[in-house]
Amino acid sequence: MVLGIDLGTTNSLIACLRDGVPTPIPTVHGGYLTPSVVSVDQDDVVLVGEAARERLFTDPLRTAGSFKRLMGSTEEVRLGSRRFRAEDLSALVLRSLKADAEAYLQAPVTEVVISVPAYFNDQQRKATRLAGELAGLTVRRLINEPTAAALLHGIHERDIDSKFLVFDLGGGTFDVSILERFSGVMEVRATGGDSFLGGDDFTEALVQWIGKAAPADARAAADPSYRAALRFAAETAKRELSTHTQWDVEMPRGASRARVTLTLAEYELACARLVERLRAPIERALRDARLRTTDLDEIVLVGGATRMPMVRRLAAQLFGRLPARHPDPDQTIALGAAVAAGLVARDAAFEELVLADVCPHSLGTAVAERDGQGGIMSDLFLPIIERNTVVPASRVRTLFTINDQQTRLRIDIYQGEARLCSKNTHLGGLELSVPPRKAGEVRVDVRLTYDVNGILDVDIDSEEAGVKRNLVIKKLAGEVSDDEIERRRRELAALRIHPRDEDENRLVLERAERLFEQLLGAERERVGDYLKQFTLILERQDPHEIRVARGEFARALDGLERGSPW
Ligand code: ADP
Ligand code: MG
Repeated sequence: MVLGIDLGTTNSLIACLRDGVPTPIPTVHGGYLTPSVVSVDQDDVVLVGEAARERLFTDPLRTAGSFKRLMGSTEEVRLGSRRFRAEDLSALVLRSLKADAEAYLQAPVTEVVISVPAYFNDQQRKATRLAGELAGLTVRRLINEPTAAALLHGIHERDIDSKFLVFDLGGGTFDVSILERFSGVMEVRATGGDSFLGGDDFTEALVQWIGKAAPADARAAADPSYRAALRFAAETAKRELSTHTQWDVEMPRGASRARVTLTLAEYELACARLVERLRAPIERALRDARLRTTDLDEIVLVGGATRMPMVRRLAAQLFGRLPARHPDPDQTIALGAAVAAGLVARDAAFEELVLADVCPHSLGTAVAERDGQGGIMSDLFLPIIERNTVVPASRVRTLFTINDQQTRLRIDIYQGEARLCSKNTHLGGLELSVPPRKAGEVRVDVRLTYDVNGILDVDIDSEEAGVKRNLVIKKLAGEVSDDEIERRRRELAALRIHPRDEDENRLVLERAERLFEQLLGAERERVGDYLKQFTLILERQDPHEIRVARGEFARALDGLERGSPW
């Protein structure tokens, strides 16, 4: 069986097909989403998911989230005494999903389809595949997130050719993609969005609002645990306001508490600017795809933040109709990946559906030009394959020598959108000898060919110079060898991961630790007492007693949390 995985910036989810129905797989804690968070505790034990998310508040220096943003880079994240690359942290999340799926299906899970943002470049795609391998998975295919969403909404089952726009507002990013299915071939026509706009910004807007409505004294305001609690209260209020029209937020003010009632209307006013920012990326994607809203057959809303009524309203206004939406929009991508996994598993069906990708960033070469006043402008970027071109793609541009008697000519290939090459990413280059002639008399054709596997072929051909050269750019930086993968897999395997059968106990403990930091007075003491009692019970190691106590403990914490975020 092949499973589908959404490896998200904020949350991840694994799903399978059960009797042909895409089904989310629950976590060890009974929910569905695994927060994409990893933490290393004082004893060097690694925690993943919900328990790790609790520690974002209590131990931020040993806890990391949002590492998807670093995929494909060489940047390292320090957690305590250890250093991790983004793909290592992702591998830990994938391992946790794999373990949940194995427990649920009662069978080993090895083959998966993993979704990635449509704009991921090949470095980022390779890092995602690597994360899968490090987690002991065989990644049968990467699928674009919007394609997964469209599959869940049946784009492959329609008999007519159709165009879908996928509007994905997650925790930290807003992604717009336009997909077209034409004669059975699905292609991403355009991608756009805002990589710094997501549900978390709405929470932040509420943090500001609450801070104004119930100002804390200066000492409290500077306290990191106050900031954490404020964020927590804001996140809760935000979620509640997706289904209620008002919510009471309680915050400490000195030794007492302040209760403020937040209405949906006030919340929406506080976020009006954020909602407005959703507009431009949609318009740009439509322009890039040369489409009008009326050309779209379906608009699909995806991502946890599309649960907010104001976001759905904006979408309805922009498109002049009600978009399609799964009841749990934060499960759409994983469920769609499970549909894709089903197609991959039945090779035959998948052949009908060739997923074409677009090249997410422009690829081109550096050129110099005369500025018309006797000078030379260099470092200019000449795009050859423009962003959003469907791949495989092959384009050629002709360059000319710029100086009389010039004998050497350098070709450098860049990826990016900036006018100056120095601001784009350098992919590779080579130098040619050319016969000395008058300026403009030696011509060089530079052909770029970009294939679905992200391999860029550079063909250089000059009749005058009598040269044909080829440069293959397989990666944008540091290709990882098999030995290296094996070494890193062993390193990850050697990490002490928190035992799964104790994961639930650990979650309750971590949550209580967080509440202990957030609450004050009698409530705080109660949490302290519960913590002591539960620790004693854990030491007695009686599974039944532990289960009963854990249930009571969790219910008590629920009560404290619901009654008052502080
Ligand atoms: P990602 O794609 O970034 O992994 P998700 O699609 O899971 O993220 O969306 C996470 C975002 O959705 C968070 O900002 C979270 O606060 C928000 N969210 C989840 N549930 C709700 C809700 N009921 N109301 C408003 N926002 C929500
Ligand atoms: Mg997502």
